[in-house]
Amino acid sequence: MSTIFSQIVEGEIPARVVYEDETTLAFLDANPLAPGHTLVIPKDEYERLNDVPEDVATDLYDTIHRMVPAVEEAVDADATTVAFNNGEAAGQEVPHVHCHIVPRFEGDGGGPIHAVAG
Ligand code: IMP
Repeated sequence: MSTIFSQIVEGEIPARVVYEDETTLAFLDANPLAPGHTLVIPKDEYERLNDVPEDVATDLYDTIHRMVPAVEEAVDADATTVAFNNGEAAGQEVPHVHCHIVPRFEGDGGGPIHAVAG
């Protein structure tokens, strides 16, 4: 049984895709913590960051690096919280590695880590 994110990669369920290349995909979170909350995933399914091969990790980081300023600019954010919930005990609900890019605004009241708590 493939993850919901693999189904997004396959186009089996809809998503608001904001960036795509050969190995990675970025799309808007369905339950955003802030406007513009974006998820970046490897297209191949790996449960945790620990399972991601080095070349895929490099591609993933490249896409995160590209998306952070794009997301900030798109919603005029002051900053971003960029984080992985890596494993169930850390609040990971979807077992397909994903990086949260959460736009942050001066005085939004969110803490540095709890912004992406599940
Ligand atoms: P986690 O708690 O780090 O695993 O975060 C999973 C994230 O995936 C949550 O922020 C959810 O809102 C988001 N999510 C779950 N299903 C979908 C979907 O079908 N499309 C977009 N985002 C989703």
